[in-house]
Amino acid sequence: MTDSTAIVWFRRDLRLHDHPPLVRALAAHARVVPVFVLDPAIVRGRFASGARTAFMLDCLRELDADLRERGSGLVVREGRPERELPALAREIGAAAVHWASDATPYAIARDRRVRSALAAAQPAVAAVPGPGNFVADVGRPRTRAGGPYTVFTPFHRAWQQLERRTVHRTPAVLPPLPAGLRRGALPSLAALGLTDELSPTARAVEPGERAARRAAERWLDGHLGDYARDHDRLAGGTSALSPYLHHGCLSARECEQRAVRRGGEGAEAFVRQLAWRDFYAHVLLHHPEDVRREHQERMRALRWERDDELLAAWQDGRTGFPLVDAGMRQLRASGWMHNRARLVTGSFLTKDLQLDWRAGEAWFMRWLLDGDVASNNGNWQWIASVGVDPAPAFRRILNPALQQRRHDPDGAYVRRWVPELARVPDALLTEPWLMSEQQQRAAGCRIGADYPAPIVDHAHERRRALERYRAAGSES
Ligand code: FAD
Repeated sequence: MTDSTAIVWFRRDLRLHDHPPLVRALAAHARVVPVFVLDPAIVRGRFASGARTAFMLDCLRELDADLRERGSGLVVREGRPERELPALAREIGAAAVHWASDATPYAIARDRRVRSALAAAQPAVAAVPGPGNFVADVGRPRTRAGGPYTVFTPFHRAWQQLERRTVHRTPAVLPPLPAGLRRGALPSLAALGLTDELSPTARAVEPGERAARRAAERWLDGHLGDYARDHDRLAGGTSALSPYLHHGCLSARECEQRAVRRGGEGAEAFVRQLAWRDFYAHVLLHHPEDVRREHQERMRALRWERDDELLAAWQDGRTGFPLVDAGMRQLRASGWMHNRARLVTGSFLTKDLQLDWRAGEAWFMRWLLDGDVASNNGNWQWIASVGVDPAPAFRRILNPALQQRRHDPDGAYVRRWVPELARVPDALLTEPWLMSEQQQRAAGCRIGADYPAPIVDHAHERRRALERYRAAGSES
């Protein structure tokens, strides 16, 4: 270790356990300064989300408290990282900046600017990117021809063979911050011009590393074993760890290790889902243009309809299809939605309403606590049948009623999020519009008054969607 100072630049790795940049910096430098740079322009950018930013600010407050407990603290700067980091490095005489690399086009462009600014500083400051955000190195897997993967199954096979890095413990003690250094303070959400629109009582998860570790513990000990069987069960069945994984309150690599140690079918299925997360980061790393357009070139010719009323009905959960409405209302109240509901609502937007997947992508980014450019974009393209891992469009047109019957057989999910249907009997809950007048009276739910009649006819829209996809050249 040299008598030098390093900056550890926290981004979306808001934890102290298993934090490779922190561990590397501590091993090589006598003094380590943890910093978060808040770029207000980005927080208010294309995918601005009051809910997700509020969650992030709470995670940062907890990170600061945990750093202080260990003798350090979080330094906060507001502005462009390429200006703030070299300025801070100059102020404290830092020789290096360590960070965990990321895969989105925004992160890559930002990091490139930071590297050049650090290299141009007097004296120059070393830029040290490294692992931390993914299970494995998402830049590494290569097809036999040497290119990146665009199909999940072979990616998954190659990914399983990649070596894994060591999982690190939380450091017990940290070096103090340099005397006299201005710490800076986190802004309030209001100061950023944002509001948290989630329901305070329905929020999916509590922010911060401690809550994340408790939730992971409970999940791995109590439910992992049933995951292979239950992961499509809408009322529960999955871990709900995604907000923590997105903000890095949990380490994906550590989650993998802990699941693998437990072993069994559930663990295998869970690790496979973590591979999907790495897969979409891999895809975006190699195809940054996917953030704005369809991965499949021929699908860029698909004609999307425009209808603000239909879009608003979808966004508000007023489509008349109980499962679609339950999912959309869960999203808006809690900032999270079950994966099966994301698939059904995504299929409904793009195949039943014939609306552009980008409208759904943006709406999800506004509300999701786990809103993640790579996973959200990749999954939206998947369900819209325009992305990587292609399949004929007809295979990804989901029938909301059938999906509900299969994955919410007792109606627990739908009744929780669509209370006007609470008293509709199970047999009618998937298609409440089929209730007779008498049945509606008995259920206390008049279709068209208390709960909407379906806004489209699924069978008809399915045929229309297939025509549209066929016209664009899909094999459907
Ligand atoms: P679990 O089933 O417990 O899985 C464990 C972890 O694996 C998840 O936390 C997540 O990190 C990862 N994972 C699981 N499924 C996927 C998947 N299909 N793609 C990528 N990673 C996966 N996930 C996000 O993290 N952010 C998003 O913005 C996002 N947008 C989506 C949009 C659509 C239209 C769809 C269909 C899926 C989207 N997903 C997104 C993927 C998936 O729905 C969520 O990761 C999952 O629902 C999170 O719940 P969980 O933590 O209980 O997952």
